[in-house]
Amino acid sequence: MTTPAAPAADPAFRALVFALALLAALLAGAARAEALKPIQASKHVYYVQGAPGMATKENRAFNSNAAFVVTSEGVLVFDALGTPLLAQELKQAIAAVTRQPIRRVIVSHFHADHFYGLQALQGPGVEIWAHAAGRGSLGNEFTRSRLEQRRRDLAPYVDEKTQLVGADRWLEFKDGPEIRFTFGGLKMRLIDVSGAHSPEDIMLFVEDDGVLLAGDLYFSGRIPFVGQADSKAWLAALDRIEPLAPKMVIPGHGAASRNPKPDIELTRRYLLYLREKMGAAVRDLVPFEEAYKATDWFEFINVPAFEVANRINAYGTYLQMERELLGR
Ligand SMILES: [Zn+2]
Repeated sequence: MTTPAAPAADPAFRALVFALALLAALLAGAARAEALKPIQASKHVYYVQGAPGMATKENRAFNSNAAFVVTSEGVLVFDALGTPLLAQELKQAIAAVTRQPIRRVIVSHFHADHFYGLQALQGPGVEIWAHAAGRGSLGNEFTRSRLEQRRRDLAPYVDEKTQLVGADRWLEFKDGPEIRFTFGGLKMRLIDVSGAHSPEDIMLFVEDDGVLLAGDLYFSGRIPFVGQADSKAWLAALDRIEPLAPKMVIPGHGAASRNPKPDIELTRRYLLYLREKMGAAVRDLVPFEEAYKATDWFEFINVPAFEVANRINAYGTYLQMERELLGR
């Protein structure tokens, strides 16, 4: 009686084993590539940087940044990323840097890509802080329909288990536009820039390190995305951050900047120019299309993101100037 050939000797079987091994290696590689890599910004501050562009399944909705401050008395996290899974990975990234526990999480604002991770960060010993105006945003129709849309478009990263989590402490800023506190011996300032990009924007300045965590009001080396933002409040916010003279700014999206002054100046010049040109058009009752064509964009045309952002920014500003002119 002949025994069948050992499976290992069968060329087809060997090819299958090889293919499976290759697949496993590729998957392991992909898993490694997906892990969040903390970048050290200063002595105490680290951040993870999301992919450019929109949140997609391909980038696992990792298109925003989060930062964390490591001290001898715990870790402070700034922003929670766009999914619970990403926040879970952020916890692992933090654990790779320090054995200190997370004690506080501060939310820059309640846009999906900055706070959907909160449910993975909350828990005993962790206090979540956010601007008091965030309560309204959390409960409104836009935020609820955004969650439905993300559950449809970003499953399984955002799904039925993804919850909208609020703060444990809502900051009122009753005594002025700054709240100063120390955390783990480091001096910090929370800066109220609400109403500029969302009703509840805050920035965190880690004074001892000269690092500003700026949320969505800071764009490095590119035309900012204005959209529905209130450029008047945004300019006021720039006035507030310029005197801090940060050595480094970590924005809500894209690369950090070690040379913030030119970025702030570009954003200011650009917002002022949009307001001047679109404001004049609104006053003279010139339709948007005509005003857009008649505007000389020469100064900004070679700045990155001009093509994708300028027209929509001009339109958003046109509508904003209409609201301002009509006192709405
Ligand atoms: Zn935002």
